[in-house]
Amino acid sequence: MLAIAGVLVAIFRRYIQRPARLNNTADNAILLLWLLFILVTGFLVEGTRIAATEPAWKTWSPVGAFVGTAFTADARLWHSMFWWIHMLASFGFIAYMPFSRLKHIFTSAMNIYLRSQKPRGEIRTIDIENAEIFGVGKINDFSWKNLLDLDACTSCGRCQDICPAYLSDKPLSPKKLILDLLDNLNEKAPVLLKGGSLENENPIVGTAVEADEVWSCTTCGACVEACPVFVEHIDKVVELRRDRVLMEGDFPAELNQTFKGMENNFNRQRVSTLFK
Ligand code: SF4
Ligand code: SF4
Repeated sequence: MLAIAGVLVAIFRRYIQRPARLNNTADNAILLLWLLFILVTGFLVEGTRIAATEPAWKTWSPVGAFVGTAFTADARLWHSMFWWIHMLASFGFIAYMPFSRLKHIFTSAMNIYLRSQKPRGEIRTIDIENAEIFGVGKINDFSWKNLLDLDACTSCGRCQDICPAYLSDKPLSPKKLILDLLDNLNEKAPVLLKGGSLENENPIVGTAVEADEVWSCTTCGACVEACPVFVEHIDKVVELRRDRVLMEGDFPAELNQTFKGMENNFNRQRVSTLFK
C-alpha cells in the first residue's frame, strides 16, 4: 500500500504539480503506470489466493483479505489468471529496465562507488608537451568516468535548481547539458561500438550543446555539490572549453583581454616566483 501511495504521489508531483526541474518523457509515464499495475495486480493475486484458501491469518493481510471478498466465486480460476498477468508484468518490467531511465539504479550506484576522490573543483592538468588533442571535441574524447557520469544522471534537476547561471536566466541548465551529452553519446554509440571513428563528425559544441551554454558556466561547483549521484559537471564544461580555445581558437571576444593578460603577466609572475 505504501508503494502504491508512493507511485500516486510521484504521478501527482510529476503531472499535476509539474515542478520546472522535472521534464516528462513517455518513459516516465510508462514506468509509473507499469509499476502501479504490478502493485495492483499483486493485491489481486493475494486477494484471490486468500479467497480460495481462507487462511486463519487473513486478517494480517487486510488489503488482500478485502480484495478477496470480491472474488468468492471461482477464486482459483481468478487466482491463476491474475498470477500469470502479475508474473508477466513483473518480469517484463525487469527486462525493460535496462532500456529505460531506470537503468540509473545500476549506473548511479556504480558512479557513486567510483566517484572522484580529488578535492572538489580540481581540474585535470594538460600534458602540453605530449598531448595530441586538447579538451573534448567529440563524445569519445571524454574519459570513461565522464561518460559514466552521463549514464548515471537520474534527471532529478537538483543541479538546475541551484545553478546561478540558470537562475539568472543565462542559457545554461546543468541538467540539460548532461542530458544533451547523454543523447549525443547514445546517438554515436552504434558507430563507436562497431569500431568506427567520429573524426569527420561535427564537434559537440555547436551541435549537441550550444557555445553560449558552455561559456555561461561560472564553474562555481554548486551543481556538483547538489548532485546526489556525484556527477561532475565542471570537468565536462572545462574540457569542452579547452577544445574550443586550444583546438579551434573559437571563444567569446571578451576573453581576448584575459588571455593577453595571462600571456603577458601570469607567466612572468610564475617565472619570477620560480627563480626567486
Ligand atoms: S558550476 Fe556552472 S553549471 Fe554548475 S552550478 Fe555553477 S554555474 Fe551552474
Ligand atoms: S543533480 Fe545530478 S542526477 Fe540530478 S539532474 Fe543534475 S546531474 Fe542529473
